[in-house]
Amino acid sequence: MRELPEVEVVRRGLEAHVVGRRIDRVDVLHPRPVRRHLAGALDFAALTTGRTVLGARRRGKYLWLPLDSGDAVLGHLGMSGQMLVQPAGAPDERHLRVRFTLHGAGELRFVDQRMFGGLSVSPGGAELPAEIAHIARDPVDPLFDDDAFVAAVRRRASGVKRILLDQTVVSGVGNIYADEALWRARLHGERPGTRLRRTDVQRLLADVRGVMAAALDQGGTSFDALYVNVNGESGYFDRSLHAYGQEGRPCERCGTPIVRVAFMNRSSYFCPVCQPQPRVRRAS
Ligand SMILES: [Zn+2]
Repeated sequence: MRELPEVEVVRRGLEAHVVGRRIDRVDVLHPRPVRRHLAGALDFAALTTGRTVLGARRRGKYLWLPLDSGDAVLGHLGMSGQMLVQPAGAPDERHLRVRFTLHGAGELRFVDQRMFGGLSVSPGGAELPAEIAHIARDPVDPLFDDDAFVAAVRRRASGVKRILLDQTVVSGVGNIYADEALWRARLHGERPGTRLRRTDVQRLLADVRGVMAAALDQGGTSFDALYVNVNGESGYFDRSLHAYGQEGRPCERCGTPIVRVAFMNRSSYFCPVCQPQPRVRRAS
């Protein structure tokens, strides 16, 4: 799955290249990417053609483009989705799914090989699409509530990594960024939220932001060769990973080999010395 910094990089690209432009024509080249638009591809095109894009916004890993009709184009990149801005007449990408011809020159293209992502029109969704209103803000959002986050973590008895991945507590923190932030904060992912001090959670939040900021500076991660940002440029972040994917390599702080364990059908990576496993509390 795309991680939040990648989606934010795409949002910034859309803001720079698509906001303020009118959509002159819409071609839906494959029905699957608009499957969540239940009224169908023709209706999708009818609601977006002739509209001007007023912004490029994001909640978690969802992007939306508010339109001058009050509706919004809501999008999710899924595993392999890309938003490309191309000059008119550039050759079609092999997996081009939806083409927006912009007024003047240029095209916004939704390209998606695996098609887990998609686009739909959210009626009246310009301010915040109802479909995604339940998703918590992410730590990069200027309106993120730090105190509420700290309290929410400390109320939960589950492991702190699981809490970081809970989209109702905080959105946009995926497996890679969770492992990296926990390594920075020297916390084991199985530490229960209820047993963390306020300062632990505050430090962890700062580290989540630090990891995301580093990724944003570098244009997102590039674990997936399919990841391309709005200008078609690959992101590079993998060289600065400290824990994720580093099994057997020495921890950069203490030299102990990084360990990998199974976690929710995926993996967790951590330093067993810097991030000690919590002791099991025995019932007495
Ligand atoms: Zn270490």
